[in-house]
Amino acid sequence: MNEIYDVEKYNKGIKKVLITKEEIAAAIEKAGKEISATYDGNPILLVSILKGAFVFMADLCRAITVPCEIGFMCAKSYEGTDSTGVVNITMDLEHDVSKYHVIIVEDIVDTGRTLKDVVALLRARNPLSLRVVTLLDKPSRRKVEFDADVSLFTIPDLYVIGYGLDCDEYYRNLPYIAEYNTEA
Ligand code: 5GP
Repeated sequence: MNEIYDVEKYNKGIKKVLITKEEIAAAIEKAGKEISATYDGNPILLVSILKGAFVFMADLCRAITVPCEIGFMCAKSYEGTDSTGVVNITMDLEHDVSKYHVIIVEDIVDTGRTLKDVVALLRARNPLSLRVVTLLDKPSRRKVEFDADVSLFTIPDLYVIGYGLDCDEYYRNLPYIAEYNTEA
């Protein structure tokens, strides 16, 4: 049977719900209110790093009640034990960030490499200001020093799926965050 249609195997991959869709929605509503109050009257550009953050971006932007623009980029940090801030941009932003207060909207801070590199890259383009909002933070996995300005949930060292996060491109459409069953 084609692996794609092996529903039993697919379901086995979902070990345990860690964060419900209601908890996610409540945290995003609060974050949206804070962003709306902080940036009201200023040009805001929300920048999402594909693909993992696409669901978070879709919900966060709808929780923001003031005008804002949306941009996407694809970034891959070079693998290696000592990343020195080199990031491989496979799709760049179309915006001139020097005209905006930029908020990077990311799914998760894990080793910290991707965000450290993307922040360095965007800072070099002189945005009016730059902040990082992440849905999840896994501080125990950090390999480089990096702190987001806001992380909605801190989680232990588990591989998680759902709400945009995948395992081999599956599970992104789950409406909640779950622990992946590595034995599946
Ligand atoms: P970094 O290690 O550079 O902080 O994170 C790079 C990327 O790895 C994240 O943006 C995310 O897409 C992916 N990632 C890190 N931890 C997890 C996880 O637990 N589950 C999934 N699905 N992806 C993760």
